[in-house]
Amino acid sequence: MSDIIRRDPRAEWIARNRLHPLHAAMQPAQHSWMGPNGVIRKNLHGVGFIGPNGIKRIDRSGAQQGGATKRTAAVEVQLPLHQVPAPAFYICVVPDMVGGRLGSHDRDLLGLAHQLAGSDGAVLAVVFGEHKESAFATAGVDRLLVLDGEEFSGYAPEQRVQGLRAVDNQFNPRHWLLPDSRSGGGELGRRFAAALGERPATRVWQVKDQECIGRAGAGLQDLARPVARLILAAVECAEPVSETRHEALPVELSTTVARSLSRIEDLGAVAVDPAAIPMAEAEFIFSGGNGVKDWALFHQTAVALGATEGASRVAVDDGYMARDRQVGASGTWVTARVYVAVGISGAIQHLQGIGACDKVVAINLDPGCDMIKRADLSVIGESAEILQALIAAVEAYRNDAKRDAA
Ligand SMILES: Cc1cc2nc3c(=O)[nH]c(=O)nc-3n(C[C@H](O)[C@H](O)[C@H](O)COP(=O)(O)OP(=O)(O)OC[C@H]3O[C@@H](n4cnc5c(N)ncnc54)[C@H](O)[C@@H]3O)c2cc1C
Repeated sequence: MSDIIRRDPRAEWIARNRLHPLHAAMQPAQHSWMGPNGVIRKNLHGVGFIGPNGIKRIDRSGAQQGGATKRTAAVEVQLPLHQVPAPAFYICVVPDMVGGRLGSHDRDLLGLAHQLAGSDGAVLAVVFGEHKESAFATAGVDRLLVLDGEEFSGYAPEQRVQGLRAVDNQFNPRHWLLPDSRSGGGELGRRFAAALGERPATRVWQVKDQECIGRAGAGLQDLARPVARLILAAVECAEPVSETRHEALPVELSTTVARSLSRIEDLGAVAVDPAAIPMAEAEFIFSGGNGVKDWALFHQTAVALGATEGASRVAVDDGYMARDRQVGASGTWVTARVYVAVGISGAIQHLQGIGACDKVVAINLDPGCDMIKRADLSVIGESAEILQALIAAVEAYRNDAKRDAA
């Protein structure tokens, strides 16, 4: 093992960020010290670290012993590899892949799939079109089937059902799991169920004791039924995979998928006004707080970025933003892929509302505030100056792109 000390910026960031779930594991612990009478004392309970699932782990290699203050590459938490060389059966998951990446709903579904697969089954993810995801292995995918023909791209539910039927014929999965979402899974799952002649279990939020429980009666009642072959699951139907790494071995269809005579013509995506997107569904939110001094500039930047506007409660109470734009515990809980917080301190009520956001960017004067600790990327400085620089950068980027296209 090399003695070269390697910096791990992510581990350093987690160590600084006391709101991160792995923060405690990154703190150097003192395991032995000199007592008042000169005798060395050892804290045997202090050996080890808390793993990502909250279970205590002890590294017997010795790299952790003695309160290592240096975080070297050897100390990195390597999740155990879960392998299924000869799967007894498959559990098929069709993630929505909004923006080409696994979303939190997709990850919940993969967690549910592993619950159903146990140790003998393998989780097969079926992905349509090109994707940008690089974390299939840690999300719990044992086998990966990518159907990336142009016939599957865009809005092509009929063709996708044909693809899923081909997967069904080849792999004969024990269960099919799709997200019961508006982004695709809800419709595709119902179409696929009709094609298979299966009665799907819809809006399922729990699978337990051979039963699946779904919401019914306008969301006011629970409906329990034996575990269906085709499950359309709700958000938070299971804990996402966090304790294991998986192989994500690529597999292919042995037959070609017949082209369906489509009765639907896809006219392409329609540009929508970001301001009209409900906060809970917005993918890119540009949020302002008490640190925004120039609100006209703030709105101008949101338009330049094409982002949906959000706000802290102070900005709303002060009348700068509408009440339906408030993010947080007493506002909207958002699930954006990118959340930019301008002049927001990161009070716990606000942080609760952005807990499910993928990437947080903070613009703030105070490098020690909680929003900076939560953020994946921080810009320290006067908000007005940074927003002006941001508009200039976006305009320069767009002009370059136009020049290249011409
Ligand atoms: C029951 C309850 C429910 C609540 N629910 C919510 C909720 O849903 N959502 C919510 O947001 N809050 C909620 N709050 C309020 C919350 O506690 C905070 O008061 C609020 O979030 C603070 O808003 P802020 O970060 O915009 O303002 P501040 O806390 O005043 O922070 C302003 C930030 O801007 C920075 N700043 C100042 N000037 C500049 C500048 N020129 N350039 C860059 N940065 C600058 C400062 O460093 C600071 O970090 C709730 C409170 C209670 C008691």
